[in-house]
Amino acid sequence: MKMYEVIIIGGGPAAITISKDLKRKKDVAIIRPEDHSMIYCAMPYAIEGILDLDKTFKKDEIVTEMGTTLIRDYVTHVDFDKQIVTTNQGGLYQYEELIIATGAEPILPPIEGNQLEGVMTFKTEKDLKKVIETVETGLNEAVVVGAGAIGIELAQALNYKGVKTYLVDMFQTILPNMMDEDMIEQAQKKLEASGIELYLNHKVTKLEGEGHVEKVLFENGNTISFSSKPLVVFAVGMKPSIDFLKDSPLYMGKTGIMIDEYMHTNIKNVYAVGDCCEYVSAITGGIILGKLATNAVPMGRLLAKNMLGEKRRYAGFYNGAATKVVDYFVGGTGLTENSAKICGYDYAIGRAKMTTAFPIMPFSKDIEVKLIVDKKSKKLIGGQVISGEPVTDKVDQITMAIQYGITIDQLAQISYASQPYQSFFPANNLLAHASENILSQL
Ligand SMILES: Cc1cc2nc3c(=O)[nH]c(=O)nc-3n(C[C@H](O)[C@H](O)[C@H](O)COP(=O)(O)OP(=O)(O)OC[C@H]3O[C@@H](n4cnc5c(N)ncnc54)[C@H](O)[C@@H]3O)c2cc1C
Repeated sequence: MKMYEVIIIGGGPAAITISKDLKRKKDVAIIRPEDHSMIYCAMPYAIEGILDLDKTFKKDEIVTEMGTTLIRDYVTHVDFDKQIVTTNQGGLYQYEELIIATGAEPILPPIEGNQLEGVMTFKTEKDLKKVIETVETGLNEAVVVGAGAIGIELAQALNYKGVKTYLVDMFQTILPNMMDEDMIEQAQKKLEASGIELYLNHKVTKLEGEGHVEKVLFENGNTISFSSKPLVVFAVGMKPSIDFLKDSPLYMGKTGIMIDEYMHTNIKNVYAVGDCCEYVSAITGGIILGKLATNAVPMGRLLAKNMLGEKRRYAGFYNGAATKVVDYFVGGTGLTENSAKICGYDYAIGRAKMTTAFPIMPFSKDIEVKLIVDKKSKKLIGGQVISGEPVTDKVDQITMAIQYGITIDQLAQISYASQPYQSFFPANNLLAHASENILSQL
């Protein structure tokens, strides 16, 4: 039996980060089944045609060049006492330390008709190829269920390719976990104007048809009927890929493997990172979904550093995330106003609207921020940004303020840079202004 110092189950961003950050200092094997590790975030853009399909594949060399052994197989069982991993092809591998990084898989709701031709979820290389091939062979209609970032990006790609696209969600606005209604309204209108038909406040209850889907039925009695064979893609959330660990002594939470702030599970020398874990909010301490690469990668990095002797601690997750809706860039972090309400915060809201360059510059675009502050501590608990230019830097600044407990008085006094191409006039700064707006109410 082959023995490794470290076995990592899974070949996603969490696993790859660990392999890279262990810097050849351990004898590592990665076990993953698929042909290619994917750049999932780029998948919608391969459908749209901005990228060739193979640009969404990560090269195996990023791990093998680090001395990691890549085993193309699927783990079916782990014997935690004997420290042995069993694979689908009958492989037996012994480990000193085991890292579970098996990610999460899309949920296909258990509704009638979900086995009909053209009904699918969207994560794997196979899914991506199926969408691209179906579009190329003349797909006329598609329904995307779930108006989170993945659903929105997919719906826009299909719409761009000339497919009549319906985007469905049970909530009343798109991106309900990232943006409040007041911050997404204008982008939502643009999405509709782009040709995508929105079915918000609509819950799918059944798919009907002979062989393929002919009709989508909703709880409120409405339906969508098709004149051709459609694709019906569910992008309604992820569940951890941990079925193979079902009868193991590992502690499992409601949404994944339970870990502490050092990525340790309840079993000695067994760690878990990324989407297969239960995520805890650094703000509320409660469980949050947040299956994001921007959570998985820092978890992997922290674990690798600690395995090499550091003692870094992960405080939890903030869930900074962003997407693009037609020509708006949108992003949010921490709690939305809605979730602050649900969590029982007594909060204040601050807003600012400026431009991405001096407003006198012909190319300047609007940028708008909303900050959410806990009145008691005067600390930020959330923020959202919308603009005609990318917003991730602003979202990250807000996350940093939340992460390091900056109060709204401190944020109102941040020191900033200004230049005609790159910011509003020196007279003001987006985050400082939104903070003053809050202070004026307290
Ligand atoms: C379309 C799409 C767009 C996205 N866009 C973004 C974005 O813009 N920004 C962002 O931050 N995140 C985005 N995400 C989410 C992001 O891709 C995931 O959060 C991230 O991939 C999680 O990394 P991971 O390593 O934990 O798990 P995964 O990437 O899911 O990798 C898990 C790995 O484990 C393997 N595996 C599972 N079970 C077993 C087993 N029993 N044996 C062996 N191997 C196993 C899998 O095959 C896979 O290789 C997107 C996801 C999708 C699907």
